[in-house]
Amino acid sequence: MNKAIFLDRDGVLINNQHHYYIWESTQIEFIDGVFDNLKRLQQKGFQLYIVSNQGGISRGLYTKENILTIHEELIETFRKNQIIISDILFCPHHSKKEKCLCRKPKSLMIEKLIAKYNLNLQESTMIGDSESDMKAAAMAGVHGIKITPNQNMFPFISTILR
Ligand SMILES: [Mg+2]
Ligand SMILES: [Zn+2]
Repeated sequence: MNKAIFLDRDGVLINNQHHYYIWESTQIEFIDGVFDNLKRLQQKGFQLYIVSNQGGISRGLYTKENILTIHEELIETFRKNQIIISDILFCPHHSKKEKCLCRKPKSLMIEKLIAKYNLNLQESTMIGDSESDMKAAAMAGVHGIKITPNQNMFPFISTILR
């Protein structure tokens, strides 16, 4: 069985202080230490996954294609830095527009990844910057680490790097 780190995208990998919604490459500003931290996690044997709420799609602010494109770019940028992102799932829905099972704090995105990639719950952790990330982690049965938004996650992940 594999062990995984589920990463929220905005506020954890990409700085969202200046843009609440991020859908084009010009808006991407990586948070300090992201590449080093993901490399460290990878070296500890974790597979890396991103799970992201993208309610801006439902709200008509940008399209699914915008997100697929920016995610391909993200995967490529990480790859150039020797980091493999195994998969990215996003929820295109918004609670004000419709009900769904995927939008965090619901746990469907994490559960799908667990099933598809045969991940070990006990050894896997969701790293997020919001309560909804932590609720999704708890509902899926994985550990949760809440970091300070848009800050280097290193002090928060030291326990799993030991
Ligand atoms: Mg976030
Ligand atoms: Zn959804």
